Amino acid sequence: MRTRGVTADILVVGLGPAGAAAAGAAAAGGARVVAIDARAAPGCPVQCAEFVPAALEADLPWLAEVTVQPIRQMRTFVEAAPPDITAGFPGCMIDRAAFDRYLADDAARAGARLLSRRRIGAIGADGTLVGTTGETFRARVVIGADGPRSLVGAATGRANTALVETRQLMVDLRSEQDATDIFLSAAYPGGYGWLFPKAGAANLGLGLAAGVRPRLKPLLAGLHARLAGQGTVGRAAWGLTGGAIPVGGRHPVAAWRGSIPMLLAGDALGLANPVTGAGIAAAVQSGRLVGAAAAAWVSGDRTALELLEEDMALLFDASLRRARGHRRALDGAAVDPDSLRAHWIADPRYWTEAATEHAA
Ligand SMILES: Cc1cc2nc3c(=O)[nH]c(=O)nc-3n(C[C@H](O)[C@H](O)[C@H](O)COP(=O)(O)OP(=O)(O)OC[C@H]3O[C@@H](n4cnc5c(N)ncnc54)[C@H](O)[C@@H]3O)c2cc1C
Repeated sequence: MRTRGVTADILVVGLGPAGAAAAGAAAAGGARVVAIDARAAPGCPVQCAEFVPAALEADLPWLAEVTVQPIRQMRTFVEAAPPDITAGFPGCMIDRAAFDRYLADDAARAGARLLSRRRIGAIGADGTLVGTTGETFRARVVIGADGPRSLVGAATGRANTALVETRQLMVDLRSEQDATDIFLSAAYPGGYGWLFPKAGAANLGLGLAAGVRPRLKPLLAGLHARLAGQGTVGRAAWGLTGGAIPVGGRHPVAAWRGSIPMLLAGDALGLANPVTGAGIAAAVQSGRLVGAAAAAWVSGDRTALELLEEDMALLFDASLRRARGHRRALDGAAVDPDSLRAHWIADPRYWTEAATEHAA
């Protein structure tokens, strides 16, 4: 029996923000691009708290079209103390499903062929990818934009081993707010709680170091009960979601399988911020760079991948190193409120040079 096969110049695995951005950039660079995703539709189901910095509009001029409400400040609640207010914290609460769909539509408009319900199950020694239904995918370059548990990354020695696990609910918000609320506590090792407003509702979630995952459910229930008791949110909850976030930092962008370069972008590359878990902006930015470099490589530019590694280092490594340093400083330590505060982005000490020494 003949196996069904798909061929392309560039194969993109994953159609989240990184994959869609990569597919669009690669197609715009003139390559024949196929992008596949295990999901039936981009961005669904949503696994996200849906906050992006307002500055992302410089990359995505259509951001306002998928924005549900603006964010102007951050409130940081450390244990039971009144919140620290960070007034200048401009952002957007987005409709993440619409955001991902917009990026995927952009990629299709640029000429990429998008295939849904295709899950890659294995990668051969010669760089051929095999779908879980037996379909084969061959390309001159593969881009792994397949998220925190990337198969492309794992197959090429670049698995994300440090992960935060999350759990999130939707709740009614009793009064509208333009702040993201952050909850820091010694009870939340390796993570934090969040309440991100979306008009009359909110995403209420919690992330914890993967090793203490069983505590997620009771701790989030406790946070929900506390906020409901204060009258901030309703007692009803729906829209349960969650997922992993890589917190170990960046991998090398390229590795080889046979003669095929296997590039990574977004969470697969380890670009989510190790302290905040934010990864959407980095996924879009890295996806675009990787897609453009892959198209250049296919058209004969043999310097493209080296330059890509340099660009990634310039764009992401300083902030990732800083965040990893802060994360490490809290690792396993008995944490007091002042340390929790000092290692969170709202505190000026987070940004001082001394703090980055932890990252060495
Ligand atoms: C609960 C939660 C809340 C978050 N909140 C925020 C936030 O508010 N702001 C923020 O900036 N970041 C947030 N993040 C992080 C953010 O969601 C990620 O950084 C971002 O989605 C990374 O994009 P990506 O394209 O790299 O990966 P993903 O969005 O994970 O996309 C990967 C895609 O690859 C597909 N895929 C995976 N494996 C295969 C396979 N074998 N074959 C085919 N397809 C495959 C998946 O179906 C998926 O569509 C949050 C994460 C979680 C879990």
